[in-house]
Amino acid sequence: MNESRKKRPPRLRVIVFVFIVLIATIPMISVSLVLINSAFDREIESGKSELSGQVLILANQLQADDYVSHYITSDKNVAIEQIADIWGGRIQITNAGCKVLVDTYGLDISRYNISEYVLTALSGQSVNYLDEQSMTLVLSQPIYNSEEKELVVPLEELADGQEPEYRSKIDGVILVTVDMSRRTTTLTGISSQMYLLWIAAACLIILIVFLVMVRLFRPFGRIVSEIDAAVEGTSKRISVRSYLEFSRISDAVGRLITRINSLDESRQEFVSNVSHELKTPITSMRVLADTINTMEDVPPETYREFMRDISGELDREGRIIDDLLSISRLEAGRVDLSVSQVNLNEWIESVLRRVSPIAKASGIDLLFESFRPVSAEIDEIKLTLALTNIVENAIKYNKEGGWIKVSLNSDHHYFFIKIEDSGIGIPKEAMPHLFERFYRVDKDRSRESGGTGLGLSIAKQIVNLHHGAIRAYSELGEGTTFVIRIPLEYHEKELSLQQEASDEEDS
Ligand code: ADP
Repeated sequence: MNESRKKRPPRLRVIVFVFIVLIATIPMISVSLVLINSAFDREIESGKSELSGQVLILANQLQADDYVSHYITSDKNVAIEQIADIWGGRIQITNAGCKVLVDTYGLDISRYNISEYVLTALSGQSVNYLDEQSMTLVLSQPIYNSEEKELVVPLEELADGQEPEYRSKIDGVILVTVDMSRRTTTLTGISSQMYLLWIAAACLIILIVFLVMVRLFRPFGRIVSEIDAAVEGTSKRISVRSYLEFSRISDAVGRLITRINSLDESRQEFVSNVSHELKTPITSMRVLADTINTMEDVPPETYREFMRDISGELDREGRIIDDLLSISRLEAGRVDLSVSQVNLNEWIESVLRRVSPIAKASGIDLLFESFRPVSAEIDEIKLTLALTNIVENAIKYNKEGGWIKVSLNSDHHYFFIKIEDSGIGIPKEAMPHLFERFYRVDKDRSRESGGTGLGLSIAKQIVNLHHGAIRAYSELGEGTTFVIRIPLEYHEKELSLQQEASDEEDS
């Protein structure tokens, strides 16, 4: 329930699609918007200056004709009508008392227009104002009297010592109201056509990007279904190689599948080996027990002999179980090393002392050669198990009257333990499998000597935990040499890296 409610991650193809569409359309729309807006502005500005030029000329003409002071109702001024017609606007002429003398709309004649535009013009300032919402341009222009003058500031308002200033007397005002949207009709038409163009272009872009996306992302779907097929086991290879990146993914997934398969195989092999190994002593014990049960009047000697054999098989079973437990703990990585600074010379001597009775019993000389005193950070108990396994092998697989030489050396970073023997040696083809669980070159000999086939595998795991490496060199019939290399200082973090490196080296 919770799983299904989990937020699904976004689809890459949707993100890329939206991104490309935006990148393709935003610049197109914004550039054309900027262009059309500046075209509108330019058109309005040129209209404003053209109209104010014409109104100024008209004002000068009316001034020259003394139009306002000599106005009589029947007067018709052609210039006024013309300008109003050309611009499709309204022109009013008022006298200095704000009374409308001329109105091209004929609505306000003889009424008073005391709008702020008229009043501003009467104070000597022309107005040029565009109402952007209604696109209405209002122009007001004073009409001066060519002869009479008047004070700019009335005498009574003059400050002390201020010279009176004169200007031409204002007879009246030209007030023009023009609807500028007429002038920008063409541009409005162009811009609405442009909207259509945008929609068409956007649709085209969306279609093209969609088709490209489908083509580009098709291999993603294929790679997923091929991985699914490989996971289900119906196919072993991923063959999507449309892009270099996919080739790499295919190769990596291929490697992963091979590894999973080999892990699976080795797990199955391990389970069947374990069952087999555990069954062998049980079978022997059953045979021994059945034999003794079917025998009549068995002398106590024979009973004892059979019981000794059964006890030996029990020991063997116990050893196998112990080794299995160690290996499973080591492999699960659940083992914490308890590392301490150890004098290696003394440590090796004590290990050899413990195995020397077995060597002596087999008539084998056990030598220890140390090049210098070495001390390192190790888990003494675990490394003792590893070294004992190797030295015991050197005894088990040795010849009568043979020898074993253990030597210790070091450099700045590592210490090296070499275990050489004069034993039976290992055939070349067996070398790559030596550290595998349950691998034994000679099964009978191993079993006879109490081997479980797990000793070297355990030794390798322990050396790996110390971030070290173990190698074997052997000459069939002449002897075998194992070399262990471990860092003098233990660093916990190096574990995975070094382990991988040493695994690679080993292989
Ligand atoms: P085992 O319990 O059988 O000794 P190991 O894992 O310790 O298992 O060793 C694996 C196999 O490697 C042995 O069965 C043996 O055939 C071979 N081997 C190990 N050490 C030596 C050695 N020093 N000389 C010859 N063969 C060896």
